[in-house]
Amino acid sequence: MSEREKLLEVKHLKKYFPVKGGMLQRTVGHVKAVDDVSFEVYKGETLGIVGESGSGKSTLGRTVLRLLDPTEGEIVFEGMDLATLKNRKLRPYRKDMQMVFQDPFASLNPRMSVGEIIEEPMIVQKMLNKKQRMEKVVDLLGKVGLPAEARSKYPHEFSGGQRQRIGIARALTMNPKFVIGDEPVSALDVSVQSQVLNLMEDLQEEFHLTYLFIAHDLSVVKHISDRVGVMYLGRLAEIGPKNKIYDNPLHPYTQALLSAVPVPDVERKREKIHLKGELPSPANPPAGCSFHTRCPEAHERCRLERPELIHQGEGQYVACHLYTTEK
Ligand code: SF4
Repeated sequence: MSEREKLLEVKHLKKYFPVKGGMLQRTVGHVKAVDDVSFEVYKGETLGIVGESGSGKSTLGRTVLRLLDPTEGEIVFEGMDLATLKNRKLRPYRKDMQMVFQDPFASLNPRMSVGEIIEEPMIVQKMLNKKQRMEKVVDLLGKVGLPAEARSKYPHEFSGGQRQRIGIARALTMNPKFVIGDEPVSALDVSVQSQVLNLMEDLQEEFHLTYLFIAHDLSVVKHISDRVGVMYLGRLAEIGPKNKIYDNPLHPYTQALLSAVPVPDVERKREKIHLKGELPSPANPPAGCSFHTRCPEAHERCRLERPELIHQGEGQYVACHLYTTEK
């Protein structure tokens, strides 16, 4: 990538959900779904975010898009902090930032035709006249590999992969700059996954899109990403260029995740690292490094002090007390 212009800068973002309890349903604690996360997304790139379910990655995506209100932190998009903007001021930015959801069937209104689904955001934003909107619908259907006749059909008449193509077409209706894919291929058959990933890559080039791609599947994220962030219990454990993360993971959690991925090349096979215990509850995360209850390298300091992300060279950052010197 020659151009390294920031499109989005997330600073110390937190999203806590209150936990209610007792007769009076008072707030007795918080689920820290996103807990002090900072990263940047550069124009034209794809940043992949991986983590187990419960790591907070989907909440992170929804909070960045302001589908959820952040508890704290900044979401700076093209220089404007969106974190505290209210409805009217937020509206102009909404069209620039779109989401492709995991389950296309649940996210498409079954009572609307495909044409109406794709047209709807243009009507809401009072964009174009009826004839122009129909032309745009047909054009977008073509871009995602569906025939013009698809516009008069309903979501249930399509396969999972085709429905995700419709979801992608709808996300592109407003000519967004930034698209978040929240597990966009996880519900699809493996054979269809690569077709949809390839389509997303083609559209990225054609429409000059920037992606935040959220998934639990490391091979899917590897396929599409330029850089990758690894989340554990609401925090970033490691972030860096794809090749650094996959070829030279530094954080013990990243190493464990990657050791579970089958590699065809015998020379590069890693010994599988078995993590002890279950993922702790984000309502009650361990003190110090939140990974210390499962980490094979845990030592005294890990139980006491939370590690911050430290640069380890060539854009690779890791939050682990094994790496104390910035490079
Ligand atoms: Fe493991 Fe300690 Fe590093 Fe956390 S800080 S990942 S517990 S070695």
